[in-house]
Amino acid sequence: MRVLVQLPEGLKPKAPEIVRELEEKGYEVILSASPMYGGCDIAYEEAKAVGAQKIIHVGHSYFPLKRTFEDIEVEYIPYHIDIEIGWPELVKELKSKNIKTLSVLTTVQHIHQFPQIKEYFEKEGFEVKVRKGPFCTYEGQVLGCDAYGIHPEAEAAVIIADGDFHHTAATHIAHKMPVYGVNPYTKAFSQVNEKLIRLLKRRRGSLLKALEAQHFGILVSTKPGQWGFKLALEIKKKLEARGKKAYILVGNELFPDSLYNYLFIEVYINTACPRIVDDVEKYKKPIINPDQLQEFFTLLGQDTQ
Ligand code: SF4
Repeated sequence: MRVLVQLPEGLKPKAPEIVRELEEKGYEVILSASPMYGGCDIAYEEAKAVGAQKIIHVGHSYFPLKRTFEDIEVEYIPYHIDIEIGWPELVKELKSKNIKTLSVLTTVQHIHQFPQIKEYFEKEGFEVKVRKGPFCTYEGQVLGCDAYGIHPEAEAAVIIADGDFHHTAATHIAHKMPVYGVNPYTKAFSQVNEKLIRLLKRRRGSLLKALEAQHFGILVSTKPGQWGFKLALEIKKKLEARGKKAYILVGNELFPDSLYNYLFIEVYINTACPRIVDDVEKYKKPIINPDQLQEFFTLLGQDTQ
């Protein structure tokens, strides 16, 4: 069987061993040359172009897809990396704040160790409360677009993830509890609430600027987990019913410089990856997410009906 293999950037150098293993299983392997951002990003177009019957998507977990090609199977293969369990300095900090109930989340790379991570904090006397976020596969997992595994009754959240993309996924609780981002390899940690509040302020700033705009670009990505075409059509209708002009802009990957050449567009409304809004400097124009539209239309003086 011919398969298309998608690898995240960090795993591309390991392609020879991954390809060898798959070839030993009898697969004919074609590698995707595209960047790959998450479980939302399934390369159906590439698979179709090369006649692959299956996509092997490495390094991410299952993501609920909004657009599929039923004749092409998708297999998600996780890539786990062990980390050393134990964060005594963080425990000291949490205890100094009299925190007793915690939510702890980690990325899919370390989720296989989640039971030990949870047990560690429980042995230190914390009650660990977590949920499964809507786009996540596992309880205790975090994605850049889903930190809803943080339990509302927790007194603090701890997110164990490399870089700060996942640490800053928790904007919804920025004002509710301390959020700690922890580096899984160095164990360095910091409270990220100020960063989260900064992101929220920037998103609100974009929304306020959008109130003055006449020309909107509605961004749609063909990535199967990000596909929001129906929503884009609805948004366009609502905007045009209010005398605005809206254009739907579709692409697999949304390139800020290329989009910028639509000079007449004043504001983007983003139906793709919700974290695009945090790249507002690259896009050089305000961007608002659909979850801000209700407020947007209310401030505009007309409801969303
Ligand atoms: S939608 Fe964005 S944040 Fe969510 S998994 Fe995809 S790339 Fe990551």
